[in-house]
Amino acid sequence: MSATSAQRDQTSVLEDDFGTSQTVSNPDDSGTLTSTEVAEVIQEMMRPWDSLVVPRNYLNPQIEDVRHLCFDTVVLSPCPVCDSEFALPTFEIRGMPQRLATCLDCGLGRLHPLPSPEELGRFYPDEYYGSPGAKFEPMTEAVVRFVGTLHVQSLSRKLQPGSRILDIGCGRGVLLSSLADRGHEVHGMDVSETAIAGADPRADIRVANCITEVEYPSNHFDQVILWHVLEHLTNPREVLAEINRILKPGGQVIVAVPNFSSWQARWSGAAWFHLDLPRHLFHFPVNGLRQLLTRTDFTVTCEQHFSLRQNPFGWVQSAMNKCDGLRRNALYNLLHNYDAGENSVASPWKQRALRAAYLTGMPIAGVLSLLTTAARSGASVCLVGQAN
Ligand SMILES: [Zn+2]
Repeated sequence: MSATSAQRDQTSVLEDDFGTSQTVSNPDDSGTLTSTEVAEVIQEMMRPWDSLVVPRNYLNPQIEDVRHLCFDTVVLSPCPVCDSEFALPTFEIRGMPQRLATCLDCGLGRLHPLPSPEELGRFYPDEYYGSPGAKFEPMTEAVVRFVGTLHVQSLSRKLQPGSRILDIGCGRGVLLSSLADRGHEVHGMDVSETAIAGADPRADIRVANCITEVEYPSNHFDQVILWHVLEHLTNPREVLAEINRILKPGGQVIVAVPNFSSWQARWSGAAWFHLDLPRHLFHFPVNGLRQLLTRTDFTVTCEQHFSLRQNPFGWVQSAMNKCDGLRRNALYNLLHNYDAGENSVASPWKQRALRAAYLTGMPIAGVLSLLTTAARSGASVCLVGQAN
């Protein structure tokens, strides 16, 4: 018996002319719950959330803006950026207990409550990683790899050949392959064997839950890369502190994250493509990330707001997510290498329409991305921190 049905059996709710609810006893009943029924109701309320039969789409769940509903602040554990305990509920995830709440002090978005390691594992079904060696369909994969190579060239242009580089959350090792081509000693870390399937054998890749478990020596690396990874971690401050320890003095950390304070994020609201709930546990405004790097003993030396890979596509997919009748991230799913069950796009004509909208929207999105770069409000931001 569910809590709701138990209550419905015992009482009925009437509404008067003013819409005020009154609860009255059912005349057929004694009006009181038996001890067994009370125990059932309590048991129902105490059940762990994951045993409830709620269909969940972890890849693209429905997200709702609750800012107009919730005016009360919530008290959370201290914010990893500013230590404030006060936050405002911002987004809800349909069918899940977690909410995104925004820190009142620094603007950091936080998933609350943070998922347990078991829950976290469920957020990354195998489809998330795509087939070994390729995350997208062939043409998109080629573009992604090309753009990735351009990124690496910009990241490593100041490094001497033979520099020791660690990519945390290296996945299939696209970045590491390009860095190895340029003569660097490449190391990687990721959380699962599935994630690293198809990676370049030149990379020394460790599988661990957290960088703190790998126990790299102190003063070991010239550069550590966190490319769209920090927002997935449960302990961003501890991870940055550990990176500071394993970097050589003067070594660099490169941190790229979606920018929670960007124009794209603010315009899109709950439809923002880069929210990627429930996998993104923290949502950094650019000033918050800067503050966190300073707290973990880095000096920020560079701030980039342009990302060809992240920003234009984010505009197009977020605009589509705002359209009623389109499944969330339908275009991304189409370009992605999976097409299973509830993630598949409905019909061939709809696929053609999505591709046409993609091709039409990308040039406009490109212009918007240039404008936001000029305004230092890119949808993703990359900061370079130098270890003190
Ligand atoms: Zn904060």
